[in-house]
Amino acid sequence: MYIRIADGFYMVAGGDAGPGISCFKDCNVYLLDDGGEAILFDAGSGIDSQWIFRNMEETGVPAEHLKYLFVTHCHGDHTGGLWEFQEKFPHCKVVAAPGERRLIEEGTEFELGLTAAKIKGAYPADYVFHHGHVDIEAQDGQEYYAGGMVITPIITPGHSIESTCYLVCWRGRRMLFSGDSVYKNGVLSLQNCYGSSLEDYRNYLPKLAGLNVDALIPSHFGMALTEGQKHVDKALAYLKSSALPPMV
Ligand SMILES: [Zn+2]
Repeated sequence: MYIRIADGFYMVAGGDAGPGISCFKDCNVYLLDDGGEAILFDAGSGIDSQWIFRNMEETGVPAEHLKYLFVTHCHGDHTGGLWEFQEKFPHCKVVAAPGERRLIEEGTEFELGLTAAKIKGAYPADYVFHHGHVDIEAQDGQEYYAGGMVITPIITPGHSIESTCYLVCWRGRRMLFSGDSVYKNGVLSLQNCYGSSLEDYRNYLPKLAGLNVDALIPSHFGMALTEGQKHVDKALAYLKSSALPPMV
């Protein structure tokens, strides 16, 4: 099962905090395909990657189109399945920020926030994180190209050490794949675990000011396909106030 958002633009995973089209723990995984080249955002939890692969197949996007898999951050629901994507699609290059790369490749459960997340009950106690590897270190502001898409990483520490948003300009539209950095209605995701910092949020989220994005497409909950910047700007306004911002 998958969701077609627009021509060549699909959601192929999303668990309990999404549309429920894959394993309960998966973040939303997006597949964009244009002009014979395709990209993915994130890889899900690894609890049942085969389910995501079936969804991808159903879209009809040929596997050989896959050029880049952009990682928003290291947390298990986003990269626990990365190693399986790399086995299945070895030609697809994984892109992640340097700080996230280290954690994806060799982070401990503590550093991945998993110890605290298991205590919260957010992961099954027997969940095991399998390390993937990163082919390309995302540089802030560097452009990547796939078909008619231009993809630009914007590194915004706060939710995690180097959580990364990706600006995608495609068909005259500007879309921000914001990971867990900012959700609809300006909701943030500060966590009580290694790598998450409200001070970093204050320092780095303002990099998203003035992007004029049409769409805000986070890794959980709802997306805003129009007036996306309005939701980002709400978060930036919250971060200026001494009151704690709305968080999940
Ligand atoms: Zn996260």
